[in-house]
Amino acid sequence: MDPQDLQICLGHGGIEDNADGAMAPPIVQTSLFAQPTFRQLLAGLDREHAHRVYTRGRNPTVEAVERKLAALERGEAAQCFASGMAAISAVLFGLLRQGDHLLFVNHVYGPALELAQRLESFGVDHDQVLSADPETVAAALRPETRLLYLESPGTMAFHMLDVPSLVDLARERGLLTVMDNTWSTPLFQKPLTRGVDLVVHSCTKYLGGHSDLVAGAVVGSAGLIERLFYDAFLLLGGTLSPFDAWLLHRGLRTLPARMAQHRDNALAVARFLQVHPKVRRVFHPLLHPDDRALAADQLSGTSGLFSFELASDDFDTLCAFIDRLRFFRIGVSWGGAESLVISPHNGTNGEALRAAGLPPSLVRLSVGLEGAALLIDDLEQAFAGVGAP
Ligand SMILES: *Cc1c(COP(=O)(O)O)cnc(C)c1O
Repeated sequence: MDPQDLQICLGHGGIEDNADGAMAPPIVQTSLFAQPTFRQLLAGLDREHAHRVYTRGRNPTVEAVERKLAALERGEAAQCFASGMAAISAVLFGLLRQGDHLLFVNHVYGPALELAQRLESFGVDHDQVLSADPETVAAALRPETRLLYLESPGTMAFHMLDVPSLVDLARERGLLTVMDNTWSTPLFQKPLTRGVDLVVHSCTKYLGGHSDLVAGAVVGSAGLIERLFYDAFLLLGGTLSPFDAWLLHRGLRTLPARMAQHRDNALAVARFLQVHPKVRRVFHPLLHPDDRALAADQLSGTSGLFSFELASDDFDTLCAFIDRLRFFRIGVSWGGAESLVISPHNGTNGEALRAAGLPPSLVRLSVGLEGAALLIDDLEQAFAGVGAP
């Protein structure tokens, strides 16, 4: 990990009111900021991006965490949002117009695709390419394509993209690139340094890290972030509350220590699964043959979220296996201290999953901080309880 990142995570985000040397930043829990004169109010309203007028725009506690996120991603500016989806919504609403086309590359977070489907009624079209091959991506571009939306590693199967090649392609065609960097966190991957224009995060996951907040962020150039502020953030109203910004700030302080532990625990668990007779395949960027080389080149570390395919395709076996786990709690989301398990299979969508390049017996693990030995024992007893593959 970059020592500069450790400093940024521990720092107080440059908040100016550090009264009496308080080690934690103040929570400025206010909806509005009274102005000394009416003319100053008018000037503030004219450029809300640069003035504290109303917390739907600017708030000092939120600004402190935005400075930290911008610094971690090596971006000029960051905008926080009430959730990762609020951040993604702002990017799509802010950057796309009627007649535009958007191309998703890789498996991406499901609700982002659902949002793109809604945008069809506003005259914005989209496609998705699952191949990581830049030529296949180039073939899916249209004259009206404006945005390449990337996720690497991708949702559920954690396949890697060749990000520098895709950035070159986007630049040649004059397209903006957006990348969801939730999985890696800025500690393990900094897409802006590879030429990506905007990074989106669900801070609900590792950045918050304790399963106690919902938040999102977009990081990029000052110009693009200002454009998103006026064209989407202020109008869509997905504002992060000062208290949740403060929790996020607290989460960031331990991010480097947590990520090192998630990385090591998950790799140990994934290696155990890779040679288990009841497992067909493991989808972890460092262990999957298609992804290993790109992961070694583009990631400086791996997080705790990966998946594997049970050797049995039987849905009852999948349910029984998940239900037998004791230390992996059953639930959505990920990135907290506790281990979680889920599957994209709901008993009826097997064919749809196959068509989307995902095996129906896929089990996704979010490996927490309990320690690999305990988790491996737990998986072993769950396998033992579900009979032959
Ligand atoms: C959870 C998640 C999101 C959405 O974030 P919310 O905070 O739940 O709105 C976006 N991208 C990825 C990869 C996610 O896992």
